[in-house]
Amino acid sequence: MTPRGWALLTLAGLTVALLVTAALFIPWHRPPAPRADQLAALRDLPAEQVAKGREFRAALRPGSYAALAVGLLIAVALGLTPLGSRLVELVGRPFGGHWIAQAVLGGLAVVLVADLLTLPFAAWRQSVLTRYGLSTNGWNGWAVDLLKSYAVSAVIGAVALFGFYTVIRLAPRWWWAFGAAGAALLVVLLSFVLPVLVEPVFNKFTPMEQGALRTELMSMAARDGVPVRDVLVADASRRTRAVNAYVSGLGPTRRVVVYDTLLSEATPAEVTAVVAHELGHAKDSDVTVGTLTGALGAAAAVVALYLLGSWGLLLRLAGVDSVAHPRAFPLLIALVTVAGLVTTPVQALLSRRVEARADAHALALTGDPVAFESMQRRLGSVNLGDPDPPRWEYLYSASHPSTVERMAAARAYARETAR
Ligand SMILES: [Zn+2]
Repeated sequence: MTPRGWALLTLAGLTVALLVTAALFIPWHRPPAPRADQLAALRDLPAEQVAKGREFRAALRPGSYAALAVGLLIAVALGLTPLGSRLVELVGRPFGGHWIAQAVLGGLAVVLVADLLTLPFAAWRQSVLTRYGLSTNGWNGWAVDLLKSYAVSAVIGAVALFGFYTVIRLAPRWWWAFGAAGAALLVVLLSFVLPVLVEPVFNKFTPMEQGALRTELMSMAARDGVPVRDVLVADASRRTRAVNAYVSGLGPTRRVVVYDTLLSEATPAEVTAVVAHELGHAKDSDVTVGTLTGALGAAAAVVALYLLGSWGLLLRLAGVDSVAHPRAFPLLIALVTVAGLVTTPVQALLSRRVEARADAHALALTGDPVAFESMQRRLGSVNLGDPDPPRWEYLYSASHPSTVERMAAARAYARETAR
């Protein structure tokens, strides 16, 4: 069989593995959250809170979608015309067109151009956040964060680009197989490394101080049978007023992180509800499954790019003769960008299902639907969410059930347990 035949077979195998993983680990049953309860919850929310959330989301919307559209246009302009390959060539020229310069500097330049051209939208978003009082870090802090994230992406990107094009040179016929394995490994590695090495670049984490709340949270984790080494507090308040909590890392790097803003805004019972939700993610191995599907998806993407890369039309449009050349990197980015936009709704749907399961876990673990509901109100009010967003936007990109959906789930749970 030819390498191409093996690639087709591998892609089919990876697709089956992805579908099986999703079928086994993504909950297909949604806990009940009747629409009637949702509408009742919406009526119970203060009218001015609903209006302000909607106004804020409407203010963000034009910039967000314009940024998506412009990002797509840039990716297509660079990848499906010879513009991008010329840019890679140009950046490599001072180094005699050496492949390392083209691969690493050229590749980073392509990404940087896209970042710089969408920068005005990012700045505009920051101005909206500031106007609505959600952002607290000012323009200097915003710029520092931006530079830090460029630096982190440049380091990770340089390593990935160098590795990828080295493999192509060493194994010109089978690079896709090594590339797929490498991409999968990189996803796994990043999910261990990001919480430990990268998150501290942006925030300071301190163990939650001893006291009744910490004792309650640790004993709840023990009761739940979830090994949690620590509950950490992130100094999110220097950047935002928004409240949040999350679980990240795998195995020994796993930790529950709560924003300091959450501790100052919410009651202890509400913080407990949020942490119970995060424990649900840990208990159902959502981070592990997310990492696994990410790794399978990355591997499948590399093989798919290899296969698409033999399509003469695409190569002609990009002005290159082989997808394996660094000059074809903009074409790869264009394909990945389009795939990302197309798969967003699927990823959002899976995420909402997983989040609804974590909510159900929180309700069962705390047995406190009242605190859960008041936490949802608070999250919605502090984060200026639209409690019942437009259906199309919800279906396209919502990673969590809506506020009224989560309140309705708490009401349905309360009714169920009162029986
Ligand atoms: Zn969650």
